[in-house]
Amino acid sequence: MAIQTLNPATGKVEKTFDPHTEAEIETMLAKGEKAFQTWRHSNFTHRSELMRFVQGELAGNTEKYARIITAEMGKPIQQSRGEVRKCALACEYYAANAETFLADELIKTGATRSYIAYEPLGIILAIMPWNFPFWQVFRFAAPAIMAGNVGILKHASNVPQCALAIQEIFTKAGFPEGIFQTVLVESDGVDVLIKDERIKAVTLTGSEGAGAHVASVAGKEIKKTVLELGGSDAFVVLQDADLELAAENAVRSRMINTGQSCIAAKRFIVEEPVAEEFIRKMKEKMANLKSGDPASDEADFGPLARKDLAESLQKQVEKSVAQGAEKVLDGGHAENDSAWFKPMILKNVKPGMPAYEEEMFGPVAAVMVAKDAEDALRIANDSRFGLGASIWTNDHKKGQELARRMESGAVFINALVASSPEMPFGGIKKSGYGRELSYVGIREFVNQKSIWLA
Ligand code: NDP
Repeated sequence: MAIQTLNPATGKVEKTFDPHTEAEIETMLAKGEKAFQTWRHSNFTHRSELMRFVQGELAGNTEKYARIITAEMGKPIQQSRGEVRKCALACEYYAANAETFLADELIKTGATRSYIAYEPLGIILAIMPWNFPFWQVFRFAAPAIMAGNVGILKHASNVPQCALAIQEIFTKAGFPEGIFQTVLVESDGVDVLIKDERIKAVTLTGSEGAGAHVASVAGKEIKKTVLELGGSDAFVVLQDADLELAAENAVRSRMINTGQSCIAAKRFIVEEPVAEEFIRKMKEKMANLKSGDPASDEADFGPLARKDLAESLQKQVEKSVAQGAEKVLDGGHAENDSAWFKPMILKNVKPGMPAYEEEMFGPVAAVMVAKDAEDALRIANDSRFGLGASIWTNDHKKGQELARRMESGAVFINALVASSPEMPFGGIKKSGYGRELSYVGIREFVNQKSIWLA
């Protein structure tokens, strides 16, 4: 895929970039390695001070960075602003807490003194997607760098200006050269990086295919990976739920980022007695959303990030409909030569259909009716994925009981599934492994060293 800014709202190529040459990549790896040798010994006060400069840069220039995000991947500008602000929060969170999270941990044993020391690994390669082109990077970079590692970012080929802007932010904040670098390569240039002995571990957020490939190459090199892949998360509505609240959040969850979020609810599983009413409310709210120029403040949703994504989503819908899914709200790929896609709701979604089995990465809601709460749980767990489910019920005890039996990295009860710096984020099954954020995330890319004094 060419490395370029192709504005999905207009279809115009705004800027094209040459990939870095082999010699340039070698220079970057050497710089990263050199920077690590000093950075690993830096103290937390110094690291926090610089990370707070990053926070200040993001908070003080939200509009500038939000505009780049929207131009490259088409999300509504208010959501881009929110994304930049959230990155600033993550920087502050790790600036404030990294030292505590990585302090030596005394363990009671037969030794005079025994403890776990958390030490950085070196250069971490981050392969990141376009859907949250700032957030996905900062939620990796803030903890990894605060832990004393250095980062090399291979960003998605359609968001090169975001990738370069993030590198520039770290430079502006005063981080030493080589602590955070962006390498412009297409995906076929990634294997060489993973195999380089200076790269010590890899994190990837993206599709299952990309994750499987990267993990297999890294596995051969005995390098750790963290994978944050797709989801087809359940949104379970029980008959005692506040239906208005549930429907409102169903639409928000499905439509956030124009439907292109790994933790967006994708399968809406509703208890039979309230199914019709829930569908009616959801349809009404979804139909009211306005599309428009994502750079304006009026648009509720924009185009998808690329035309090919709209085309493959359309194929998933058509196949599901051919197998018996019913359109409750009709929409779909607006014009064949664009990235625009109108929201849809499908009902009668059954096993075997793409809408049931696969991740639908765009504004298509698949609704299923469950006989009762047990049946809803069965359907929710009948998925290859397990990232972030939600349960809507006024019975808090029952909600938590079901949450414990849900096969998922997170379960939210009566709340929209969202990531926050304090809580671990990640999946099970084909949604990946490893965790980001919280104290758990910062410990993924460190040597958890046991020290024993007899
Ligand atoms: P990809 O998984 O292809 O892209 C994500 C990142 O991985 C990009 O940086 C990409 O680089 C890189 N990549 C892709 N293939 C390889 C490879 N073989 N080796 C190394 N790096 C690779 O996602 P797409 O953009 O193609 O989106 C397709 C689907 O992926 C979506 O419809 C959605 O289902 C899922 N997805 C999930 C995301 C999530 O948040 N979990 C985010 C984005 C997508 P390049 O851009 O150069 O190809």
